[in-house]
Amino acid sequence: MAKEKEKTGNVAGKTLAFFMPIAWKHFKGYFFCAAINIILRAVQPFVSIMMTPLILDELLGGRDIRKLLTYVAMIAVGGTFLSLLDSVTDIILGKYDEKMNNYFTEEMSLRIMELDFQLTEDKKALDQIEKARTGMDWYSGGVHGISLQVFQMIANIIKIAGVIVLILLHAPVLFAITALLLIINTVLNSRGNRIEIEAFNKLSKSNRIFGYLGWELVDFRYGKDIRLYDAQDMMVEKWNCYTDDALGNWKWQADQLLPLNSIKTVCNAIKDFCTYLYLGILVITGKITIGTFSQMLNAGSVFHSSMQGLIWNIQELVKRTNYAYEYVKFMSYPPAIIKGSHPVEDRPHTIEFKNVSFTYPNTDVKVLNGVNITLHPGEHLSVVGLNGAGKTTFIKLLCRLYDTTDGEILLDGINIKDYDYNEYMALFSPVFQDFNLLAFSVKDNIILDHTCEEKDLRTLIEQTGLKEKTDSLEKGTDTILFKFFDEAGIEPSGGEQQKIAIARALFKKAPIVILDEPTAALDPVAEYDIYRQFDTLVGKKTAIYISHRLSSCKFCDRIAVFSDGCVKEYGTHDELVNKPDGIYAEMFAAQARYYK
Ligand code: ADP
Repeated sequence: MAKEKEKTGNVAGKTLAFFMPIAWKHFKGYFFCAAINIILRAVQPFVSIMMTPLILDELLGGRDIRKLLTYVAMIAVGGTFLSLLDSVTDIILGKYDEKMNNYFTEEMSLRIMELDFQLTEDKKALDQIEKARTGMDWYSGGVHGISLQVFQMIANIIKIAGVIVLILLHAPVLFAITALLLIINTVLNSRGNRIEIEAFNKLSKSNRIFGYLGWELVDFRYGKDIRLYDAQDMMVEKWNCYTDDALGNWKWQADQLLPLNSIKTVCNAIKDFCTYLYLGILVITGKITIGTFSQMLNAGSVFHSSMQGLIWNIQELVKRTNYAYEYVKFMSYPPAIIKGSHPVEDRPHTIEFKNVSFTYPNTDVKVLNGVNITLHPGEHLSVVGLNGAGKTTFIKLLCRLYDTTDGEILLDGINIKDYDYNEYMALFSPVFQDFNLLAFSVKDNIILDHTCEEKDLRTLIEQTGLKEKTDSLEKGTDTILFKFFDEAGIEPSGGEQQKIAIARALFKKAPIVILDEPTAALDPVAEYDIYRQFDTLVGKKTAIYISHRLSSCKFCDRIAVFSDGCVKEYGTHDELVNKPDGIYAEMFAAQARYYK
């Protein structure tokens, strides 16, 4: 228990230490506005606490009209002025809230995009993203939701100090009555908070599945498959199943909180009874005036509400920082792969796979087993093999989307893990099997955030066979893809999408290009044509072509035949095609009619 408490405290400290310096650096105005807000809130209740007894005693005593009018005017003007100022600062703080939320959401999106690829397939990392997202938005209320607790704590402390002095002067027992109730409420609230945190942790998996079923699958990209395979019922069934799960969790939370809330209500009623009884006795015995009676009631209620507010602020702060800590944890999520600092030299590169084996995380099947291959500068390598032979995995390791389990991959004799990650990644222009285009313009999809001379873009469009298509579009390369943002967005065909992806790869001008079966949907002859055209564009760069067919083999310098995670055959087309009982020779005999 003590350990848990210390952990929760640590979490609150770490969360504040993470967010506050960033917020102070970028949003100083927020803190100045908050300081004014704190002072206003602290002073506000004292206007009525100090003035009401004066009015009452004047009414019951001298009844001096001028004095009475002055007191009333002070309450009205002071109260209005303070509450107007309070509203203005609240509005300004609300605007900062919006700005800070945008800032931290953007930072998180950037982090998600930069996350090591292997973590995007890792359940734990995906859960962490979901927890960070919901923990930051819904549950903690973001940086403003957290800071507000700190500001209110300060305002409450100032109020409490003021009313304690007043109460101890006139009715000390009232202090004891109110304090006792506070202790009871604190215990009950902290139990309630633990229940809510437990329910939140249980909900993160359901929320992720909900998000997938509710948002991802209604995306029209899945539309064809869902309709053609009549999968709507299955989706609804799964949705209902997880809805039950989530509702069950909410019900559990409500059931746990009900008795706690009932006890709190009863205790409050007892406190009110004792307060009136005690103060009534003080008036009857002549120890205080009616004015002071009302002042004590007012002060007692401000003491109680401020103490309760303070305790609630502390508990809320702990709770909210615990939720927001999921964001902190995600932002410092440990990298999945090792990143070195060795600079990549500007020269022709040799790549060597030395006895490389690989098993996907959380699985126990060796997908690659002792792969040895050397790729010399400017060489064009064709990697062929049946589906599931490990060809794409070979590329994923080369592109550092995963690190090898055994063995090493060398670039110019140095382990690729030792290189500066970004410099190393800049060497590759891959077009993956499952490439994705963005719902931006054709041009943006090709050049991303780089700049490009109009004539260079035109040349690229011509080279990749996109000219006819873009010429037919009213806005040419400025036409938006898909209809996410633009009604006039176009839905490019599979072949057109692939050409855009190839144009993007060529625009990058990286020295090593990779084509990982982006043509799988095409027939062998069309695939062969694309590979051949692409090979001409690639020119003297190093190139790797992946296919379960032999489309690229005839014009490649070397062919590696993958089977069961190993390189079973390696050589030129002429060497392999004549190998007796060879896998390649057998594949070529079966597919020869396409390539002869
Ligand atoms: P190929 O490109 O030759 O078709 P892959 O390299 O894609 O083959 O896959 C090789 C094997 O690795 C397959 O059995 C596949 O199911 C498995 N595999 C691929 N990706 C993953 C992954 N992310 N996690 C676990 N296993 C995977």
